[in-house]
Parts: sequence; C-alpha cells; structure tokens
Amino acid sequence: MAQHKMWIGGKWVEAESGKTYPVFNPATEAEIAQLPLGGKADVEKAVTAARKAFPIWSEKPQTERSQFALKIAALLRDNAAELGRIDTLDHGSPSLRAASQAARTSQWFEWAAYNARSLMGNTVPISSNELAYLQREPVGVVALITPWNLPLVMIIQKLAPALTLGNTCIIKPPSIDSLQALKLAELLDTLGLPPGTVNVITGPGGIVGNALASHRGVDMVAFTGSCETGKEIMALASNTVKHLQLELGGKNPVIVLDDADVDAAVNGMMMFQFANSGQICAAPGRFYIHEKVYEEFLEKVTAAAKKMVVGDPNDEKTQMGPLVSSEHRDKVEGYIKSGIDEGANLILGGKRPTNPPMNKGYYVVPTIFTNVRQGMTIAREEIFGPVICIMEKFNLDEKAIEMANDSNYGLTAYVWTKDTARAVRFANKIAAGTIVLNNAGSGGPELPWGGYKESGIGKEGSLFGLYEYTNLKRIHVDLMTPKR
Ligand code: NDP
Repeated sequence: MAQHKMWIGGKWVEAESGKTYPVFNPATEAEIAQLPLGGKADVEKAVTAARKAFPIWSEKPQTERSQFALKIAALLRDNAAELGRIDTLDHGSPSLRAASQAARTSQWFEWAAYNARSLMGNTVPISSNELAYLQREPVGVVALITPWNLPLVMIIQKLAPALTLGNTCIIKPPSIDSLQALKLAELLDTLGLPPGTVNVITGPGGIVGNALASHRGVDMVAFTGSCETGKEIMALASNTVKHLQLELGGKNPVIVLDDADVDAAVNGMMMFQFANSGQICAAPGRFYIHEKVYEEFLEKVTAAAKKMVVGDPNDEKTQMGPLVSSEHRDKVEGYIKSGIDEGANLILGGKRPTNPPMNKGYYVVPTIFTNVRQGMTIAREEIFGPVICIMEKFNLDEKAIEMANDSNYGLTAYVWTKDTARAVRFANKIAAGTIVLNNAGSGGPELPWGGYKESGIGKEGSLFGLYEYTNLKRIHVDLMTPKR
C-alpha cells in the first residue's frame, strides 16, 4: 500500500498528528493509498512557510518567474502519461482522455508565462504638476482549494496565474482525489523553487480548507467547488476580508430551437453530458426542446445515450467510467429517486450496471428523465452525474429564455439554432457567464470562465483571470514637491 507525505516548506512531511486516511479506486473499490490527515497544525506550518517565501518569490524578476512557469509546463507535458494514469486510478477517468487532459494543462503555464511579462500598468494624467500611475502586484499567500471532478486541471488553472505572478501558494486538493496534486508537488520539487513557494496539504475540507479560509496569514482564497462550500468559504474569509475567486456549481440550460441541426445538438451535448460521468460543472443540466423538434431530439438523444460505452476506465474503448465515490453515487441515486418521486418520467437507466467488472465500483448507467418540470428538485439542483433532464417542451422563444433564467445558477448555457440573429438574442438575454451557440464549447487559458449569480465570483483564464491574482496599486506623484 502506497504511503504518501505532504509537501510543506519544501519538505515531505507526515501530518503533525501522525494520522493518515485511505483513498480508493472508484472502479474497483480497492484501497490504493494512505494519505496524511492534515489538520490545523499543518496549516500553520504551511502558512508560515508560504509567508516566508513570499518576499523571495515575489521580488524575483518576472522574466525569471516566467522561466519557472515554462519549466513547469514542460514537466506537465512530459509527465502527462503518468498524471493520466493516476487520474484513472483514483478518479476513474477513462484512459482514453486522461493523459491528453493532463498534457493540456501545460498550456495554462505557457500562457501565464508569456502574458505575465506583458501586464502593463497605466498612467493617469491629472495635471501638469501631478500624475498617478497604476501597477499590479501579487496579492500574497493564496490558498487554492479545489474539487475532485478534474483534480489536476482545477489546480493548474489557479496555480499557473497565481504562481507565475509572484504569489506563494498552499494547495488543498480534494481529499478523495489528492494523488495528482502530490505527483505535481513531486515534479515541482525538482525545480529548486524557494522552499514554501508551493505547498500541498492533504486532509478534510472541513478542517484544512476551513483553517486556510479563516487564517489571517492567507491573503486570498481561490476556490472551485460547490455553492454550499463556496458560501461557507465566503463567510470564513469575511473575517479578514480576503480576496476571493469562486468557481461554483451550475445547472446549465441547453435550448434546442425548431430550426436547429438536431444531430449536431445531440452529438455536441452527448459527450459533454456523459464524459467524466456527468461530473463537470459545465455539463448540460436542463434540456429545453422546441415542440417541433422534441420527438426527433428525444429519439436521437436516447439512441446516443444507449450507445455510450460504460466500463473499466483502463479500457481504451471506455467512454464513461464510474462516479468518484460511493458517497457521490448515493447522492446521484438520491436525485434519481427524487425525480421518480416528484413525477418525472424515467425513460432510460436510473440504475447500477450488474455485469462484471461493473458489479464492483461506483457506476450508474446513462439516465434520461422526460417531463421534468421547473419546480422539481432535479431541475433546480446540480446532480453532477450521468443524468439528462428533458424539460417540458416549449413553443415560444421568450418562454425558453424565462425558464432558462429561472435558476439560482448562472454558469453557462447552450443554444442551438441556424438563425444567427435569434442565437444572439438568446445570448443577450440569458444570465450566465458563458453562452455557447451551436457548439459544446471549449476552454483554454485565453478565455475567461466564471459564473453569474450563485455560480461564482471572478474569472479564471484570460487577462481577467490573471488580474484576479493581483492587487492594483495607485501611486500618486506630485511633480512639484521635491524641493531640496
Ligand atoms: P466541494 O465544495 O464539496 O469541495 C471542494 C473543495 O472544498 C474540496 O477540496 C473540499 O475538501 C473543500 N471543502 C469542503 N468543505 C470545506 C469547508 N467547510 N471549508 C473549506 N473547504 C472545504 O465540491 P466537490 O469537490 O464536491 O466538487 C463538485 C462541485 O464543484 C460541483 O458543484 C461543481 O459544479 C463545482 N465545480 C465548479 C467548477 C467551475 O468552474 N465553476 C469547475 C469544477 C467543479 P474535501 O475534498 O476534503 O471535502
């Protein structure tokens, strides 16, 4: 059994308590490793180390920090196969995608490396005797608290801008999926970063995450996770008025209009719905289908869902693996039960597979509900599983917009129509941080990502995302004063 250590202050250490906890392979339910059960004392150590490293790291020239970022990008690319293997082992990511997904994270460091070198300030002309100039400075010690759904990706999207711009970082990975974070630490350990520049603490969010979010020595929390935890972190961070960047949940509407290319809509949404077993914040949450194409869409989406290859994530043919944990499977099954109890029509799936090897592992087969109404729990809450909710059909554009906006979430929305003007009207009227027209959308470090409403605060990616990890300082200069 692999016994891991945490990385604090440039050293590999056990938890101060000496305690460990087990993690499991979601496809086999086998215990795969023991990790240190971090606690408050470990957070103290990490904050002290990160604070000590901050002046050293932040005062390095940007060119030097960018060189480090490029080296990290190369490490991520060169070790993508191993990082992908770990993702398959502890998360259940199909090997079909795991390594390429890990390799793509290198782009975030490359992009940050180049763009951090061109973050320019401004000067503000006030009068001939006075000027003000603006400069961006790193915020300080940043706690990165991340979810299990894409463990490495979620860390890198925050670490790349935070670190490259001169912040020091404490990573609190998801407790059930920390192995990629520890592998990342192992890679970073080869680079000779000042000790404490990056730290990784494993352990429960309610203790480690909580201690980081409320610690006076932490200047910023960059968090991705559920709305519930996001709200808790906001409350904890308010005590010391920390910078916050929150990427939270979604219940994303997909609107298919009467003139849409239905095949394209089904193909576009299908992999997105079932890849990672539906455990994607941007996955479709509610399908609104125009009455004229409703039957065609239903028939095609059901056929496509039936064709999904569910199975052992190590098998190259597998498109959808297990859910991440037995607790999460219980949660998804709870939503399926609530859908049935509240009167939605279960037309596909809704159960665990029974054939080997899937009689072990936390699997749920692709599931489709129809006749889902706005007020139902499965229409309002994020299921985060392989469950399609097809809402009641509509025939007026305004009605579709109204229903799409009737949600506490505002992460992303998808609209399918051949009429560009109509598509843009929808884009203007839907309250979400990203609107994707006739596509499943793609991400990348050059694009801003972030929610409206309870889906979050701030942006990840693009220059807006870089700015999140800076303080903007105004320096006011009186050009007349210095008289000797
Ligand atoms: P959680 O909110 O449960 O956990 C996220 C992180 O917060 C974990 O590291 C967790 O630790 C930690 N945590 C838990 N409780 C606390 C606490 N009280 N104080 C501080 N930290 C805490 O989210 P999940 O891991 O379940 O991830 C799924 C959610 O993430 C979904 O809602 C999804 O939509 C969202 N998400 C949003 C994205 C976006 O870009 N908007 C992208 C990806 C996911 P531990 O693991 O130990 O519980």
